[in-house]
Amino acid sequence: MSKENKVILVLCDALRYDTAVAGMGYLGHLVEVKLASLYKVIGELPSLSRPMYETVHTGLPVSEHGIVSNWIVRRSNKTNIFQLAVDAGLTTAAAAYSWVSELYNRSPFDIIDDREVDDPSLPIQHGRFYTQDEFPDIDLFAIGGLLARRFNPHYLLVHPMGMDYSGETYGADSSEYRNQAILQDKIMANLIGEWMEMGYNIMVTGDHGINNDKEHGGTTPDVREIPLYLIRPNTPGRGDTGEVVSQLQIAPTICTLLGLQIPASMNHPSIV
Ligand SMILES: [Zn+2]
Repeated sequence: MSKENKVILVLCDALRYDTAVAGMGYLGHLVEVKLASLYKVIGELPSLSRPMYETVHTGLPVSEHGIVSNWIVRRSNKTNIFQLAVDAGLTTAAAAYSWVSELYNRSPFDIIDDREVDDPSLPIQHGRFYTQDEFPDIDLFAIGGLLARRFNPHYLLVHPMGMDYSGETYGADSSEYRNQAILQDKIMANLIGEWMEMGYNIMVTGDHGINNDKEHGGTTPDVREIPLYLIRPNTPGRGDTGEVVSQLQIAPTICTLLGLQIPASMNHPSIV
């Protein structure tokens, strides 16, 4: 069994804290038996996707990283997890929305050249990217599972869009949105054991929530409060910690779990 410092970040787009806690029974079980630790994360503002992808990977608020809206289409120019990992000689991979490729690999996204890449010179060395919001979660998680098995990357981002798609189509107070959380939990139940055996630290979180108006971007708890489940190999969890943490702590926590020195730009404390 590998003792390497490896991390899988499952970034469930638009996964609310309350919906995750209510609907994700397998993760809830891991919390209950103290194999996982659960935190409530207060998301940064604005509660939008592309700005939060960058915040999660740089530990910076939007006023510092400059990705202030979904319409800023360019590569990250700040110290980020993918570049730090590659610079340290680690292997990176992602199964993610095309905006993630635009932030870290190449911008604008070329649907033919950029959709599937295996290139050690890129920040995301093994990338599999999709462009349609309705891309099925079951297939996205399978691609993430494939990347883990095939490349055993030190850092793997798995980024399903199903919560965002169902929330923006039906609203947060809908059976479709709630049932999507149950579906994602069922899928993860069939992956997390294998990933733990492989020696991975596993983090499950969101970029932002969603409201009953089928939207996000504002400041209210429904769009700001997201979960963080942390599962560590050979290390007991703390169950439901009841602790509230900042989304700015995600990036330095990933650095710590990867065995990387936290860069000066990430000035919030690691959770671990
Ligand atoms: Zn999003």
